[in-house]
Amino acid sequence: MSKLNLFGLDRESLREQFAAWDEKPYRADQVMQWIYGRGVDDFAAMSNVSKSLRVKLEEVAEISVPELVTEQISTDGTRKWVLRLDGGNAVETVFIPEKDRGTLCISSQVGCALDCSFCSTGKQGFNRNMSTAEIISQVWFANRSMGGNKPLHEMKGRRTISNVVFMGMGEPLANYNEVIPAIKILLDDFGFGLSKRRVTVSTSGLVPFMDRMHQEVDVALAVSLHAPTDELRNELVPINKKYPISELMAACDRYIEGKAQRAHILYEYVMLDGVNDSMVEAKALVKLLAGRQAKVNLIPFNPFPDTEYKRPQALRIRTFCEYLNSHGVIATTRRTRGDDIDAACGQLVGRVKNRQRQRLGESPVRLYRQGAV
Ligand code: SAH
Ligand code: SF4
Repeated sequence: MSKLNLFGLDRESLREQFAAWDEKPYRADQVMQWIYGRGVDDFAAMSNVSKSLRVKLEEVAEISVPELVTEQISTDGTRKWVLRLDGGNAVETVFIPEKDRGTLCISSQVGCALDCSFCSTGKQGFNRNMSTAEIISQVWFANRSMGGNKPLHEMKGRRTISNVVFMGMGEPLANYNEVIPAIKILLDDFGFGLSKRRVTVSTSGLVPFMDRMHQEVDVALAVSLHAPTDELRNELVPINKKYPISELMAACDRYIEGKAQRAHILYEYVMLDGVNDSMVEAKALVKLLAGRQAKVNLIPFNPFPDTEYKRPQALRIRTFCEYLNSHGVIATTRRTRGDDIDAACGQLVGRVKNRQRQRLGESPVRLYRQGAV
């Protein structure tokens, strides 16, 4: 009989499972705290769990975590882990230490089907969704490798993971059913105990799932806008043809309705030289965001092999940013981190065996990266 893997079950599911075993809910909570809070994958080490229950768990259950392949550390302190998944696939996770916080950027899919024109993950094609266990294991490994076995929220210092962002490989809302339990584990006091303002889901704009998420969990939302008009956004973010800007903005407004005054949507805007970085776009962006609870994060384009896009000159980005700020739209520019280990935004490629688009099976990006994993 195969054992049930408890890794990746949120509290509700774990409690249901324990009830089926005739065990009290608080026992499930204890086990959950050991797994995530203390990074333990061995029932024997769970010292406050009764001996008889530990023996029973050994028989029927397991804590099975995916395999970690490599860990790289950049000269700027950024770290990158590669997680090996079945079928020869691999995904990447990045940790970005900053003065006042430590952000872990996690992946949610092997590749991505949405094919944004400037995104290296998108150019690789799509293989499959990651499971909740695979998604949450990225946080589990990073925590273990950097902080040992203390609960995240109790750890102090530079290396602590204080924030988790779904900005790695994949479109999190296209893998809704596996991502939501992962979010619940991140927020749960018996899980990783992160504050809801410190977990951010980034989406290219899957409107129906933005609404569903709003009903189910309370986390920060980042939206990959990248263009202020449908004409341009259709070209950069093809899903815009299905959910155009007017529908996207309405969904954003619904998402923060009723939330605290300081709640806002973070609009991501990749800066592509000569494509979306002129004053024409800056003005249109101000018009679009005026009166909305919005912050803009400009992301200087990170190049990858075989792309025709270029990063604009620093001055051009600064001018764009200053225009927004001086016209009532709060904007910041994302600093590029982890360049030397290919860990910057949009550079996460892992190893994706594309199953969707044949032409990408021979993608130079994938071939180029094969040696890297
Ligand atoms: N699929 C989600 C989250 C992953 S991408 C989304 O699209 O929002 C995280 C952010 O990095 C997105 O805003 C994405 O558009 C941006 N990005 C993708 N490729 C990039 C590149 N080459 N340079 C800079 N940013 C990029
Ligand atoms: Fe997918 Fe996001 Fe990349 Fe677009 S930017 S292809 S949605 S990962």
